[in-house]
Amino acid sequence: MRLSQMLWVTLREDPADAELPSHKLLVRAGYIRRIANGIYAYLPLMWRVLQKISNIVREEMNRSGAMECLLPQLQPAELWQASGRWDTYTKAEGIMFYLSDRADRQLGLGPTHEEVITAIAKDMIRSYRQLPLHLYQIQTKFRDEIRPRFGLLRGREFIMKDGYSFHTNEASLRETYQEMYNCYSRILKRCGLDFRAVEADSGAIGGSGSQEFMILAEAGEDQVLYTEDGLYAANVEKAVSLPPEPVASSPTEFRKVSAPNTATIETMAAFLQVHPTQIVKQVVYQAVLDNGKTLLILVSIRGDQTVNEVKLANEVTKRAPHYGAKTLLALKVSDGEAQKQWQRRPLPAGYIAPDLSDDYIDNCPDVIPQFLRLADRTVVDLKHFATGSNEMDFHVVGANWGEHFPLPEVVDIRLAQAGDRAVHDPSQSLIAARGIEVGHIFQLGTKYSQAMGATFTDEKGEEIPLVMGCYGLGVSRLAQAAVEQSHDQNGIIWHVAIAPYQVIITVPNITNTEQMAVAEKLYQALQQAGIEVLLDDRDERAGVKFKDADLVGIPYRIVPGKSVAQGEVEIFTRQTGKTANVAIEGVVAWLQDAIRIALAN
Ligand code: ATP
Ligand code: MG
Repeated sequence: MRLSQMLWVTLREDPADAELPSHKLLVRAGYIRRIANGIYAYLPLMWRVLQKISNIVREEMNRSGAMECLLPQLQPAELWQASGRWDTYTKAEGIMFYLSDRADRQLGLGPTHEEVITAIAKDMIRSYRQLPLHLYQIQTKFRDEIRPRFGLLRGREFIMKDGYSFHTNEASLRETYQEMYNCYSRILKRCGLDFRAVEADSGAIGGSGSQEFMILAEAGEDQVLYTEDGLYAANVEKAVSLPPEPVASSPTEFRKVSAPNTATIETMAAFLQVHPTQIVKQVVYQAVLDNGKTLLILVSIRGDQTVNEVKLANEVTKRAPHYGAKTLLALKVSDGEAQKQWQRRPLPAGYIAPDLSDDYIDNCPDVIPQFLRLADRTVVDLKHFATGSNEMDFHVVGANWGEHFPLPEVVDIRLAQAGDRAVHDPSQSLIAARGIEVGHIFQLGTKYSQAMGATFTDEKGEEIPLVMGCYGLGVSRLAQAAVEQSHDQNGIIWHVAIAPYQVIITVPNITNTEQMAVAEKLYQALQQAGIEVLLDDRDERAGVKFKDADLVGIPYRIVPGKSVAQGEVEIFTRQTGKTANVAIEGVVAWLQDAIRIALAN
């Protein structure tokens, strides 16, 4: 492609709305243009990158036995009502764009395709003989994200590869799941990315597992905890670890102590001379359930620890049916203002004990009149601990479960942290890193098939629900994550496998007929050799062209400059910054070699 004929505009200034280098660079280098919040046009260079990535994805998915298809983006509300997700997706989470047609029937724009694919499976899969089966598509998804940001990393319209597999049993699902793990690893490796697969939160449905593929980058929205030995890596939302051992420091005799102005763990610990690991603190959460009820949760956790709100949300969701609800809509710490909505009288803030009375909850129809009381595992084995007394300015010390307070239901709702000891090997400690989630593989089980009645007949002639897996990979997010991971102050540094073009010929002076002749000759020869080449034949100063070439990040740059007089050109490698002088006749072979080696690595 000749740059003089392309719609290509580079910017010297960073776009005002961009925070991340990758976002700034993609806009400045002419890859994307913002059309509205979270909505971008993929310009020709970007589209080539996206197609390169899609093709790698396609090759690896096909290799693993999945079959490509294309599902509708317009999805009837009935399908989502059947799975029970219409209200959550359109109202509660509000992530789905939806609309009405001329006959007033409601439709949603696909944020994901479990419903559509399950409807097809219900219709078409009859027998175990048709299984296992794995279908995937590469397509634009729509999500009305609360905070679209970071360019393509969190868009409202973005490209995803989503695949769905169907099985007769869990063992078959696990096989495909493992194959997808390998498949995603191959894809990311081929794209030249530094990544880590981590254990991920699967929500309340649990299932036997889900993993996320993280591109390691400082700008990542996700935190990952891993061990040096490579045996453990998890999203912090899911991570487990051993907390530090408690430091015995509390008086052994139970008594109430006057302790004014010690409503925080630090002040309380200092005043009582008790280590934070010997304190049981109470945190009040409030949850909104999908039946409109508010549930108050009294969490007891060790003083030095933090509540993991994802784990807590899962515990609450599991218990939703107990309160006549299907699911949880929102969860937050209930402090100050929030408490006023439900308390009968002011709570002893900072002095709450595990047995805080339900009497504090006012008589309102929308509020469940009892606390859900949960204790994190960290408090179970504490002896002679300090905690609140339910009376302002008084704490208790020397307390024991069963003796002074009933032990609430015990769950794991603690946030693992960098520095904690690993469960599999306490001599290893957890290390933190940041990542951009580009893929998520998930063992769904029978959640959708059961809800939507998608069954098959097994060998014994029994009709049972299909066992399902689903596998997402963000194609457009991956493209930008690659830039986030590989750039310098001058611009993007694409890996050859996903670069829009492999080579750019930058002619320093297009009025120099000798330079132009060599450039044209190489341009033709490279194309004939199947190498993807851009010819910068624009009537611009050499300095501008070099800057643009760095910015756009093409892996190899050929410069037919002064050395053409000696029958040579310079070839600059963007990744290494090295320049080689290569005989004009040898350029094609030199590049073929370099590209082959880069793609093999
Ligand atoms: P996130 O937690 O980042 O919102 P998610 O858990 O909602 O992601 P999935 O529903 O698992 O994501 O979607 C599969 C993949 O699609 C993700 O791993 C990610 O790569 C991509 N993806 C999800 N949401 C977006 C978005 N708003 N913009 C771009 N890519 C996205
Ligand atoms: Mg999301």
